[in-house]
Amino acid sequence: MLHIRTVTGDIAPDALGYCQCHEHILIAKGKSFELNPALCIDDEASSLEELLLYKEAGGDTLVDAQPTGAGGMPRALRRISEDSGVRIVASTGFHKLIFYPEQHWILTSDEDTLRQCFIYDLTVGLSTDADTGLPANRCEAKAGVIKCALDSHGLDNNYKRLFKAAALAAKETGAPMLIHTEDGLNALDLIEYITSFGIATDRMMICHAERSMQRMEEKLQIAKTGVYLECDTIARFKYHSDEDEIEFLKRLCEAGYEDRILLGLDTTRQRLKSYGGSTGLDYIQRTFIPMMRENGMNAERIKKFCVDNPALALGWTQI
Ligand SMILES: [Zn+2]
Repeated sequence: MLHIRTVTGDIAPDALGYCQCHEHILIAKGKSFELNPALCIDDEASSLEELLLYKEAGGDTLVDAQPTGAGGMPRALRRISEDSGVRIVASTGFHKLIFYPEQHWILTSDEDTLRQCFIYDLTVGLSTDADTGLPANRCEAKAGVIKCALDSHGLDNNYKRLFKAAALAAKETGAPMLIHTEDGLNALDLIEYITSFGIATDRMMICHAERSMQRMEEKLQIAKTGVYLECDTIARFKYHSDEDEIEFLKRLCEAGYEDRILLGLDTTRQRLKSYGGSTGLDYIQRTFIPMMRENGMNAERIKKFCVDNPALALGWTQI
């Protein structure tokens, strides 16, 4: 891998340090807020406070998974990264289509326009006005990943257009793809589709495949393709317990996939301590890692999940 792109510049992969690969530290108030008020995280001072908690617990870097055009706040991300000393990898790309108002450019643009917008975010600077119209203004901070999302309806023509544009942008830039799924549903079809554009499976991070503990065989099949599995249902007790999460991680390791595991909390406003929530961005280091240790995970394996695997998964293959 050549480098990892953060909002404050490129770094060598071995300088990444401890990294959670799917978080939300800033989301502007928009359509997602209308659907769920917890999907608005727009107070810069509180977000900075949360990053300082993360830093204090040993956090070096995190991925902010909110794409521009769906409430991503790149200028503020860069400011809180500079002020906290926590490096942030920001997202271009697209979210689930329910998060966009009617006539949003993500819904109406052709493949080529989308591809071009994603590439600009990755190589020129993230757009700052994309929530309301086709991007026109950009800031200094660049995107480091292409966030994509598939909802439970599967890969219809709308999503095919978006995923093709994202895959072509990944191919042209060498940037990795961070992919939301609903409990891994339709992920196998999706991986095959993205691969058809010449993208290697180790360029894809599949998120939320362990929302439930069901369809385990299918989940092992997903891992077998060679993608990274972003395990981010930690401390999300409405889905399952942390003990179940650890059992899932152990199953993956026993099947030989410990080099393909990434961790995250997929935070919302409700789970950030500085916004009054109880989990906190420091939960993995303070609570979940000690639990993994008690459950027999050795330090080398834990380092893979939090340091070594993210350094490879987030690395770019081209300049
Ligand atoms: Zn997310």
